[in-house]
Amino acid sequence: MHKLVAAVEKHAQRIEKALEFFWKNPETGYREWKGHKYLADAFRELGYELTEAGNIPGFYTDVVTGRPGPMVLVMGEMDSLLCDTHPEADPETGAVHSCGHCCQAAALLGLAAALKEPGVLDELCGTIRLMAVPAEELIEVEYREKLRQEGIIRYYGGKVEFMHRGFMDGVDLAFMIHTTTAPSGSGIITKGSNGCISKEVIYSGVAAHAGGSPDKGINALYAANLTLNAINALRETFRDDDHIRIHPIITHGGTVVNSIPDYVRLESYIRGATLETILAANEKVNRAVAACAAAMGAKVLIKDRPGYSPRVHDLGMMRLAKDAMEEILETSYSETSWGTGCSDLGDVSMVFPAVHPYVGGAVGTEHGNNYYISDVDTACIGSAKVQANMLVKLLEHDAARAWEIKKSFKPTFATMEDFFCCIDGIFMDREAVSYHDDGTVTMSFSNQ
Ligand SMILES: [Zn+2]
Ligand SMILES: [Zn+2]
Repeated sequence: MHKLVAAVEKHAQRIEKALEFFWKNPETGYREWKGHKYLADAFRELGYELTEAGNIPGFYTDVVTGRPGPMVLVMGEMDSLLCDTHPEADPETGAVHSCGHCCQAAALLGLAAALKEPGVLDELCGTIRLMAVPAEELIEVEYREKLRQEGIIRYYGGKVEFMHRGFMDGVDLAFMIHTTTAPSGSGIITKGSNGCISKEVIYSGVAAHAGGSPDKGINALYAANLTLNAINALRETFRDDDHIRIHPIITHGGTVVNSIPDYVRLESYIRGATLETILAANEKVNRAVAACAAAMGAKVLIKDRPGYSPRVHDLGMMRLAKDAMEEILETSYSETSWGTGCSDLGDVSMVFPAVHPYVGGAVGTEHGNNYYISDVDTACIGSAKVQANMLVKLLEHDAARAWEIKKSFKPTFATMEDFFCCIDGIFMDREAVSYHDDGTVTMSFSNQ
């Protein structure tokens, strides 16, 4: 075991304390101020100088070996979910770490502490950038849109926002490890997972007495209801290999039962395996939205936002993660296994060789109300040790492995500018149905 990996064990207590703090102080994306302060204070106590995002939570710091070499980015997420039926959810906010990001924050701190132990960097070269990132879970879209309108953020995801802010400029390779409900002592490496578009749809009808004069109303809820049916009917047109997933919710469905709903708000993701297939599915959904609003004579505003890009793990990084993980945990490895969830690590993977392995140590259902961290040794300490081992394998021997991975990497986008140009094309605010004086109706719903 390399001394950097062994050094993680010295900080087991620090890791456990951090896990406890994050578990007891869950905060959703772009609100992780308590978590930010906890980590920032702990990093500073260890002697790190931080570059903070400032108007949103999150920071990074560079560990410089003093020998020339690549820059490896290691990320830890801080945000929680909302699940107010979880027994340990924050009683005021309903927030709870039912995706286990509390483990990532704890592991990042453990790794930071291990990197300060004497002699651990002796055989390594290059720079290690440790980054506490906000806002992975793509939730509370109205709040994030408000932050966008206020000019505080441009993107909903913390990592893509940090990319946009230049915090990943100069990075050569990137990784993070996520906790999952695999058995204790085990880890998983997969090929990747879906990306998504984030969609908000606002139907405007006409309010009228629901019993006395519904003929004077236009029912926005029924327009939304028709849309859900149309989306369900479209599902058979999606090819299995494209892994399209659409799961709308209605977040406002009416105000009082005796009035025809004139304001209805629907939210959804359009998930898929490639940006191309996501855009094609999105076009069909937008057509359904417009046509179903037109069927009821309602108006409809479609707001599309870039969600997360597909998470496409680099093969070299996957094999590196396998080699590093096998020395510490039972490892399940597949070069084809594909997940249908999304992460903004996907955005990072569009430009940099990246990987996002999982470690076990949680029980229950992910994002569910029975999710707990059951084994800190795997979920946090094991995670930090695997990350330390990945750093060793990348940066020893003049970073031969890191350079080899970088040389054979085939990015989806050649430059960060190309990447942002593509995802910026997804932004769309469109009144999708127009009613004309001559009785004709036109629809406009394409963002391509
Ligand atoms: Zn999650
Ligand atoms: Zn997660």
